[in-house]
Amino acid sequence: MRQRVVIAIALLARPRLIIADEPTTALDVTIQSQILKLMRQQIAEKGASMILITHDLAVVSEMADHITVLYCGKVVERGRTRELIETPAHPYTRGLIDSIPDTAHRHDRLRQIPGSIPDIRNLPTGCNFRDRCPRAQALCAEREPDLARQHATLWAACHFPLKPGETA
Ligand code: SF4
Repeated sequence: MRQRVVIAIALLARPRLIIADEPTTALDVTIQSQILKLMRQQIAEKGASMILITHDLAVVSEMADHITVLYCGKVVERGRTRELIETPAHPYTRGLIDSIPDTAHRHDRLRQIPGSIPDIRNLPTGCNFRDRCPRAQALCAEREPDLARQHATLWAACHFPLKPGETA
């Protein structure tokens, strides 16, 4: 209920842009679904736009038209939601998608991205993701990759991006 009240307060002033930072954290899935539905309805009725900040890719894929993926505070991939979810080019995005529990394979082990985020005060040379990346090569330690167009609407910062259909 508190979350609903906060959303109502945010919408009262008829903002053109709403920035929602983890709006459904700590809610169970039923309430989360109700809150997201309410936000979608209100935003559509008021003709507003929303920047949704979350670690929950399932929520993002339900709510967003475009996704931007950040790692260590930098954009590593961005594009239209469907393209990014179905054919991600950056290994970090691939890892995030693969770590979503798959209820159709309940007895499989949950997949995870190995290692942890580096200390922001002591980042590695080159690509920030290289210590955790299954595709890392020597070049990744030498030079930070630039954000470059991969296909259609998708942009990724990676020296060895995944091609559509590649899984790792
Ligand atoms: S630049 Fe290299 S280390 Fe970084 S994500 Fe791409 S392949 Fe992995």
